[in-house]
Amino acid sequence: MKLTVVGCSGSFPSAESACSSYLVEADGFRLLLDMGNGALGELQRHIGLYDLDAIFLSHLHADHCIDMCGYFVARYYRHEGGRCDAIPVYAPEGAEQRLTTAYADTPSPTSMSEVFDFRTLTTGGFELGPFTIRTARVCHPVEAYGIRVEHEGRVLAYSGDTGVCDALHDLADGADLFLCEASFTHGKEDIPELHLNGREAGAHATRARVGRLVLTHVPPWTDGERNLADAREVYGGPAELAKAGAVYEV
Ligand SMILES: [Zn+2]
Ligand SMILES: [Zn+2]
Repeated sequence: MKLTVVGCSGSFPSAESACSSYLVEADGFRLLLDMGNGALGELQRHIGLYDLDAIFLSHLHADHCIDMCGYFVARYYRHEGGRCDAIPVYAPEGAEQRLTTAYADTPSPTSMSEVFDFRTLTTGGFELGPFTIRTARVCHPVEAYGIRVEHEGRVLAYSGDTGVCDALHDLADGADLFLCEASFTHGKEDIPELHLNGREAGAHATRARVGRLVLTHVPPWTDGERNLADAREVYGGPAELAKAGAVYEV
């Protein structure tokens, strides 16, 4: 699998990065995990606008899904070749209505479903192109999911947004690469069931025995290097901060 960090800023974009968005590719299939603020522009640095095969939205906070409004325009009003076919969009319940409301002026209440085939996420597993997918509810103030993507024995796990959470251990169990959020700073912010700090992300990585930890969703006002140092205190494997444009072979 090839993983490209399209955007990794938490909560709002930074000068260096768009919000959450990660491209996962294998056997020519292209799955995008989240499409936060600014991600649609960055995505076009890596693939063509119409090259996606499926989209996963971990939850409906704007920093994970709001560029779907722009992507609706691109697919619905395509200038050459007419309207695009509907690609699968795995998202929490109510995604179509929420995105339609955010867009504010779709031709009809169901226009989005003409170019997006919305499929409601639950905790469970399914096959998607060459991938075996498992999703699970994680701890966040809104319905939110983490995801485990497997391909030919290799495993990528992505936390989405979550506080400390048992489900995350199952998703990340033995993962070759664990893309884990670290929004908070250890000893500074302590709001349960919202986000992880670097130390908590490291502890999850250790418990799940992952091969590599990539910290992501660090907001512009948070010191990523400090979160990385905190993670390294409790996780002994390779660990780094996600950077926009970074590519990993998983
Ligand atoms: Zn977020
Ligand atoms: Zn969130």
